[in-house]
Amino acid sequence: MVDVDGNVYELQLRPSPVIAPGVTSEGMEEGHAPEVARPAGAAGAAETARKAALAEQVRRLPAGERARLVKRTSNLFRTRTKRPAAGLDMSGFDQVLGIDAATRRARIGGMTTYERLVDATLAHGLMPLVVPQLKTITLGGAVAGLGIESASFRNGLPHESVGEMEVLTGTGDVVVARPQGEHRDLFFGFPNSYGALGYALTLDIELEPVRDHVRLRRLRYDDSGRLFADLAQICRSAAWQDERVDFVDGAVFDGGDMHLTLGQFVDEAPYTSDYTWLDMYYRSCQTRDEDFLTARDYLWRWDTDWFWCSSALGLDRRWLRRLVGRRRMRSDNYFKVVAFERRHQLTNRWDRLRGRPAREIVVQDVEIPIERAADFVEFMLKDVGALPIWLCPFRQRDDSVTWDLCPSGSGGGWYVNLGFWTRVALTASSPPDGYNRLIERTVGELGGFKSLYSTCFYAEDEFWRIYGGDAFDALKRRYDPDGRFPDLYEKCVRGA
Ligand SMILES: Cc1cc2nc3c(=O)[nH]c(=O)nc-3n(C[C@H](O)[C@H](O)[C@H](O)COP(=O)(O)OP(=O)(O)OC[C@H]3O[C@@H](n4cnc5c(N)ncnc54)[C@H](O)[C@@H]3O)c2cc1C
Repeated sequence: MVDVDGNVYELQLRPSPVIAPGVTSEGMEEGHAPEVARPAGAAGAAETARKAALAEQVRRLPAGERARLVKRTSNLFRTRTKRPAAGLDMSGFDQVLGIDAATRRARIGGMTTYERLVDATLAHGLMPLVVPQLKTITLGGAVAGLGIESASFRNGLPHESVGEMEVLTGTGDVVVARPQGEHRDLFFGFPNSYGALGYALTLDIELEPVRDHVRLRRLRYDDSGRLFADLAQICRSAAWQDERVDFVDGAVFDGGDMHLTLGQFVDEAPYTSDYTWLDMYYRSCQTRDEDFLTARDYLWRWDTDWFWCSSALGLDRRWLRRLVGRRRMRSDNYFKVVAFERRHQLTNRWDRLRGRPAREIVVQDVEIPIERAADFVEFMLKDVGALPIWLCPFRQRDDSVTWDLCPSGSGGGWYVNLGFWTRVALTASSPPDGYNRLIERTVGELGGFKSLYSTCFYAEDEFWRIYGGDAFDALKRRYDPDGRFPDLYEKCVRGA
């Protein structure tokens, strides 16, 4: 078993592979929903045993020893310092445990990928309220980080559809965190904690109905001010030109080529496009003003090419796509290639050999208040040049609630997530990490904040001012007083 850095672990205590009702020991066949829905909170004996074994593993850790999650896939983009830590194998919590179509709720293992979750819920005509774009993002990872997608302008972030969750804490307990009751502090402090307080083992979530197809409309711009003015109007009214909008995102390819894509659920489609192999969804954004996809293909439209990042691997060539094959064209495969490349610095070596300037990896998602989003795009066009940029608006779903570690606040304001994942050429005088640091400063000046899955450079006091320092301290004292898990600053900035 390896962790998200590729560290190999010997497990101290391995829970026995036992079978929970409605779930096979091999995992569910993709595309099949579980037959039964157990009521939320009702765990089978096997699941109870798995939880007890994990809790005991944490309790039995020698003084001073740390624990960390081991899993097969990751979407984390920070470099991490390898440090000895006991591996927590939570792979037994990677299943859909029950779906209740009548109440539109599901009970899900924290390690369940959205791919599996979506297949199970679609079979009931339902989907999670927000489905992050990459198939191997897990429900626990999206709730402990910040998942954002094109339904986020109406449904907020994934943690806002959680009713309750069971969390393995640093004290070696499994507690149920709900909006009320004894562990309400953990419920509201867990989102954006990235595993620094504990790991979500199971979650009860809300679902919403789907229709068979999504109709896409594109609005084109060469002026970022106009784009964000229209976007703000669409977010407020959930409509455009008197037609309902269910999903909205967009991209900046360059200053003269920006667009918004509006998605609307429809029952029937005159045709459906296929971007799961030879044709590239991101290219279609530049060429098609209208399109139709099945609901499933819509949800995974960005995964086939990892947005557009597959082109860095030459996969914008049709012959190569044919050779690679449909099954392998998935973001988790590209992630592995990129992780290998980063470990061995292949691109830098190749650039040096060809006498080309070194390039800085600029991989970030940042959240900017919608009123300042055009300023950020202009800054990126003029001072950084990390293109394309993915755009996705969001707002906290219930602005009466405070999520202690989430800086988006309860003010009810709209933000735009801007994501860019590329390399930028350096000059002889470029300081180390110069572009990333400049972006971080500019995000702060514009009243925004960064997603913490990638590199950060914040000074410690500034970091805690942004990401809920006092609340985090209180939670850490209560749920992980012996520091079994690294704290948030150690994880996100120091690379623990
Ligand atoms: C190129 C790129 C683009 C991205 N774009 C988007 C995007 O557009 N929208 C979006 O929503 N997200 C995006 N992400 C970020 C991604 O959603 C987060 O990094 C998320 O936390 C990954 O979840 P994972 O399940 O893959 O967890 P991992 O990558 O394995 O782990 C991420 C962190 O979460 C912690 N964690 C994982 N599972 C749990 C759990 N059950 N309980 C507590 N903590 C846990 C881990 O300890 C780790 O610190 C992007 C990431 C990359 C690399």
